[in-house]
Amino acid sequence: MALSQETINVIKSTVPVLEVHGVTITSTFYKNMFNNHPELLNIFNHANQSQGRQQTALANMVLAAAKNIDQLESVLPAVIQVAHKHRGLGVKAEHYPIVGKYLLEAIKEVLGDAATDDIINAWAEAYGVIAQVFIDIEANMYKLAKDQTGGWKEFKELEVVDKVKESDVITSFYFKTMDDQPLPVYEPGQYITVRVNIPGEKYALNRQYSLSCAPDNKYYRISVKREIDFEPNGKVSNYLHDYLNVGDTIEVSAPAGDFTLNMDETAPVALISGGVGLTPLMSMFETLVKNDSDRKVTFIHSSRHEGLHAFNKETRELAGKLQHGSYYYGYQDPVEKDGKHDFTGYITKEFLVNKISTDTICYVCGPVAFLKNVVGMLSDLGVAQENIRYEFFGPALALEKVETAV
Ligand SMILES: Cc1cc2nc3c(=O)[nH]c(=O)nc-3n(C[C@H](O)[C@H](O)[C@H](O)COP(=O)(O)OP(=O)(O)OC[C@H]3O[C@@H](n4cnc5c(N)ncnc54)[C@H](O)[C@@H]3O)c2cc1C
Repeated sequence: MALSQETINVIKSTVPVLEVHGVTITSTFYKNMFNNHPELLNIFNHANQSQGRQQTALANMVLAAAKNIDQLESVLPAVIQVAHKHRGLGVKAEHYPIVGKYLLEAIKEVLGDAATDDIINAWAEAYGVIAQVFIDIEANMYKLAKDQTGGWKEFKELEVVDKVKESDVITSFYFKTMDDQPLPVYEPGQYITVRVNIPGEKYALNRQYSLSCAPDNKYYRISVKREIDFEPNGKVSNYLHDYLNVGDTIEVSAPAGDFTLNMDETAPVALISGGVGLTPLMSMFETLVKNDSDRKVTFIHSSRHEGLHAFNKETRELAGKLQHGSYYYGYQDPVEKDGKHDFTGYITKEFLVNKISTDTICYVCGPVAFLKNVVGMLSDLGVAQENIRYEFFGPALALEKVETAV
């Protein structure tokens, strides 16, 4: 359904207001919606809600859609990224009218008399169009997930067949199907959503974990960092570390995500990670090795100290198998017994300058501050924007907005 020029004008005229009140509107929206539809708490990440990340992500999305209401195709990459998450979480078409109702009510509640009937009607109409874009894309994603070899639509129970400690805080879990049927092959860099019911928790908890090895139809591997740095400690990561053991089963979505290695490209590639952000990059690195890639591949990893450094031996072996592979790592805060490393403290531009040529395609994953820093340096070194690809382990947020949301 095409929107009238009048509706488009009204939507665009509300952008400045949304810019000011966006997060208040979306916070009000989530509060009211979850009060009235607590069953939706089985889908959304409560920790992201309490930290305000989800609200900011939604506000950014709404704002981007409002700004581009007459050319929604320009926000399609952001829509696709969110749609991947929705498909992995099990968001359904019937949820959209609920979201629409509470979003419009929140706009009215926050803006008061300023939200005239014209504004509310225009937003109702525009929301219908935006929601339909998501619904159609997600319907297609569900179909593809189900129709692929070994695929399924929402969640499937897989069995834990191995559990391996990779560092003081990171542990890998290997999953297989219970009937030994093949698993869908995924793109290196994709993640799965795990859904757990933790005793004492009222709602199911969903979390995304990147697949940390090359695609294989026999097993999936995720590598989970135990979140103990802040109070309260992370619920799902600690539960998996403490209670998920070989022989147990766990509900898992089919792989999703658009932070993926493009194997058709031939330019040099750099895989740059901080902390547990190395997981999707391990999958990419292993895939390049499996495919005997002749690309120049540079793997750079930063962790706090050796005890927290996962996959060191594996990464070194992988680099050795490549025709043009190199591996560098550094420790932010090394302890005395730590072995030799390539840099101490943060990665610097001086360190990167002779390793990253301007034509390098860079995949970056790590904590927010790390991402901002590395993405900024790569840009300064002349790497094109479209060749700096990054993933943040939270709700989809533009990098410049991430800091305000955490
Ligand atoms: C695409 C993607 C891929 C990912 N891949 C990986 C991966 O490969 N490995 C990995 O380890 N992680 C990965 N993650 C992160 C993972 O999904 C989880 O977010 C992570 O494990 C933390 O979950 P948790 O349940 O343990 O912590 P949560 O309970 O979700 O808590 C997370 C943080 O929020 C804080 N918090 C919780 N409740 C509150 C509150 N009420 N007020 C204030 N702060 C609060 C906690 O202190 C904690 O620091 C990925 C995320 C995404 C989006």
